[in-house]
Amino acid sequence: MNFDLDDDHRLLERSTREWAAREVAPRIQQLDRAHTFDRALLPKMAELGLLGVCIPAKYGGAGMDYISLGLACEELEYVDTSLRVILSVHVGLSSLTLLAWGSEAQKQQYLVPQAQGALIGSYGLTEPAAGSDARGIQTTAEKQGDRYILNGEKMWISLADVADTFLVIAWTDQEKKRQKDPSGLSAFMVERAFAGFSSGTLTQKWGILAGNTGFFTMDGVEVPAENLVGLPGEGFKIAMFALDQGRLTVAAGAAGLIRACRDASATYARDRQAFGVEIGQHQLVKEMIAQMESDYQASRLLWLRSAWLKNAGRRNTRETGLAKWFATVASERAASDAVQIHGANGYSDEYPVGRFYRNAKGAVIYEGTREIHKLMQADYVLGYRADKPLRCDLPPFYPTF
Ligand SMILES: Cc1cc2nc3c(=O)[nH]c(=O)nc-3n(C[C@H](O)[C@H](O)[C@H](O)COP(=O)(O)OP(=O)(O)OC[C@H]3O[C@@H](n4cnc5c(N)ncnc54)[C@H](O)[C@@H]3O)c2cc1C
Repeated sequence: MNFDLDDDHRLLERSTREWAAREVAPRIQQLDRAHTFDRALLPKMAELGLLGVCIPAKYGGAGMDYISLGLACEELEYVDTSLRVILSVHVGLSSLTLLAWGSEAQKQQYLVPQAQGALIGSYGLTEPAAGSDARGIQTTAEKQGDRYILNGEKMWISLADVADTFLVIAWTDQEKKRQKDPSGLSAFMVERAFAGFSSGTLTQKWGILAGNTGFFTMDGVEVPAENLVGLPGEGFKIAMFALDQGRLTVAAGAAGLIRACRDASATYARDRQAFGVEIGQHQLVKEMIAQMESDYQASRLLWLRSAWLKNAGRRNTRETGLAKWFATVASERAASDAVQIHGANGYSDEYPVGRFYRNAKGAVIYEGTREIHKLMQADYVLGYRADKPLRCDLPPFYPTF
């Protein structure tokens, strides 16, 4: 066991922290208030190597490990959730799935430019009528010669109006669709540039306001057969594999959000006086700050274990799910208590904790709701669920493991 980060980790952690503090933190309140996603951040994140942080150098990435991906997410979400969401969909859900399941041609066509930030990737599973119950999606992909014709609508998609490529899950087997048999689902790389693709932004969203979330419609979109990811019928496995990677990023990001709540609360508690003393001197305020500290430390250890298992090339659905569930629920608690510690000021947009509170709630919903994760963890313990080996998996970072 070694709990130390190495020099490369520390350098990445510091450079991401300094960049986000310098270039985003001073403007984030304004971007959030204006509901504005700042596209100019993307080339800067690419320059820092963040958009391909754990993609091997031979595919255009920075060649770092999966712990590095988590560190970057923690530092980005310390400043704002919208920054971490970029890594979740682009690196976690899209690029790492291509790395594991994509053909060599798909890696050259999509993974290399994504790792360099020349293309931005996203992920389309959810639809207006189906989220947790992925078998309820309606999008279809019909094979016609050397193409598939995709029809359907995806909803609540991060970077829907920003990304260039979308990993789309659709039914390729109509009979299995009727039976809701997930072995009738397949995965495709769909480009925004394909005819029949259109997207929009959800303007009524009340959290992660500096991020872009929206919908896209595929109206007879012709997708070349070579854009099928994996084999026909592997779409459900691929969708769940993608979530195994996305959940690490969400867990690590939630740890960063808890740390942001802790730090803002400690600063305020030393500054604000009530009943003749700093409010930090009141035991009930100390209790909230102590809870934030224990939640932060536990969340960090859980996501580090998930990333370590990925480095080792070991199956980690159970551990990654636990990290995501624990850290996101804890981040909602931390954000709520951070508002409480700030009193009425916490209820004002003048302080960042209200934004933390709005942002925290999203992660308790996406990439598996709190309830779905509870059911998964109970089922592992009860022996109702076990993970089987996958046909394709992430390349381990240390091949000697
Ligand atoms: C900000 C944001 C960004 C997102 N980004 C993406 C994205 O990039 N790509 C993408 O594909 N999706 C994305 N999503 C969608 C997200 O993954 C879904 O919202 C999520 O899976 C939940 O689905 P739902 O909203 O349809 O809720 P539902 O599935 O309808 O669930 C509603 C409620 O019922 C509960 N419930 C459902 N089934 C059960 C059960 N079996 N037992 C107990 N309780 C249950 C849920 O826990 C929840 O509380 C995003 C969502 C948000 C909010």
